[in-house]
Amino acid sequence: MTFEELALKPAILKALREEQYVTPTPIQEQSIPAVLAGKDLLGCAQTGTGKTAAFSLPIVQLLGERQGRKGGKRPIRALILTPTRELAIQIYDNIEAYARHTPLRSTVIVGGVPQRPQERALAIGADILIATPGRLLDLINQQYADLRQVEMLVLDEADRMLDMGFIHDVKRIIAKVPVKRQTLFFSATMPSEIAKLAQTLLVDPVKVEI
Ligand code: AMP
Repeated sequence: MTFEELALKPAILKALREEQYVTPTPIQEQSIPAVLAGKDLLGCAQTGTGKTAAFSLPIVQLLGERQGRKGGKRPIRALILTPTRELAIQIYDNIEAYARHTPLRSTVIVGGVPQRPQERALAIGADILIATPGRLLDLINQQYADLRQVEMLVLDEADRMLDMGFIHDVKRIIAKVPVKRQTLFFSATMPSEIAKLAQTLLVDPVKVEI
């Protein structure tokens, strides 16, 4: 299997060549066609399997095709929630690379750093927002972050978000996202609380297990 066979567009294939990715990993082979087809996804996968590209590549492709506003403030159309600052920055760096030849803009919001630059980034706007839950909820409550245009929602490492005590924040954030959306849910393990959450968030999901 090649990335070309996964029906990715030339702008993305070019970025993948530059990143020296030659073949898709198993989770990418299974996830990318399902996400491109607009399906919800339940992925049971650890870090290191290539799961970041499995959700990021189709998000970049779908948002690029739907092309948002050209000028002015861009609404957030994809929201990726992840438990730690390190993961958020890694995902952001990967998406910056994959979207390099598209006009899409991303931004990252994490705790433990000054809030002002994040307020400014949100005022300018971004198509894709990668965030840890605590700081994002603060920014939502202070009305700096508007999630009403979100079309694609990713929960990354849902089990770790539960372990780290973020699950209530995550639920409050999701309540601000339109119900009509595509949801991609990843967790390395599926304890009952996580399975229940997945069931409330996903509609007829494609299941991918690595
Ligand atoms: P992840 O599991 O998403 O954290 O990815 C693990 C590492 O593998 C990251 O450094 C990615 O850049 C890299 N990677 C992901 N997919 C591929 C691929 N298809 N070919 C080569 N490297 C990849």
